Amino acid sequence: MIIAHELAHQWFGNLVTMEWWNDLWLNEGFAKFMEFVSVSVTHPELRVGDYFLRRCFDAMAVDALNSSHPISTPVEDPAQILEMFDNVSYEKIMIKTTYKVMVFAGAANSRPQARYLWHIPLTYITSKSNTVQRFLMTTKADVIILPEEVEWVKFNVDMNGYYIVHYEEDGWDPLIDLLKENHTAISSNDRASLINNVFQLEYIVHLFEELIEAQSWSDEGSVSEKLLRHSLLLFACRHRHRPCLEKAEGYFTEWQKSNGTLRSVL
Ligand SMILES: [Zn+2]
Repeated sequence: MIIAHELAHQWFGNLVTMEWWNDLWLNEGFAKFMEFVSVSVTHPELRVGDYFLRRCFDAMAVDALNSSHPISTPVEDPAQILEMFDNVSYEKIMIKTTYKVMVFAGAANSRPQARYLWHIPLTYITSKSNTVQRFLMTTKADVIILPEEVEWVKFNVDMNGYYIVHYEEDGWDPLIDLLKENHTAISSNDRASLINNVFQLEYIVHLFEELIEAQSWSDEGSVSEKLLRHSLLLFACRHRHRPCLEKAEGYFTEWQKSNGTLRSVL
């Protein structure tokens, strides 16, 4: 993959270069994209297309952080230029190059200062029809009327759009049943996107709530139990699960007050 990337740079980036560093994404996004194009041709058995989806998920996770930035930003000094060489430039851009759609903020609500409303090109299939339906969402809330009653609806078909989907209330249940009973009814990309999306959403915390509550905040138990505790509590805090945040903040304050001498917790 790296060889394919650097070979692409021989033309794109070396012979042809963007005018200034603010458009580094043209350079790196295209080279990254070419990794997948070239390797799918030279080594089709590696099925790098599947791996591509994984890279999209990584890009979305980084892009959802408050530290994310637009792909093209004004840069002047070397420090700012170095900052452009982060995952956002490499991965988010690759998606932009590939899908030829606008880039959508999956987590705009985590950035209160961002006052824009992205247009979302919704696509969906249903239990009754796997013909891809399209709907451009230009407002905060909208209604789609289906021609017939369906058991499930899967949005963002094959995860071709740069957004995640939450199926509110009991919307997840029929999709979870589908994955359990007849998972091949939807593509591997659709299955992966469902699993990825649910892990990005606070909803997932409910599924693990009992297990999270059962964790002690001490250093006891076997290595596996400790690892499980570490993963679960970190996961709960990352998803801003109130009880865990309060506990963690409490311990942190205690540790601060103790002048760094408190070592007993976690
Ligand atoms: Zn590069």
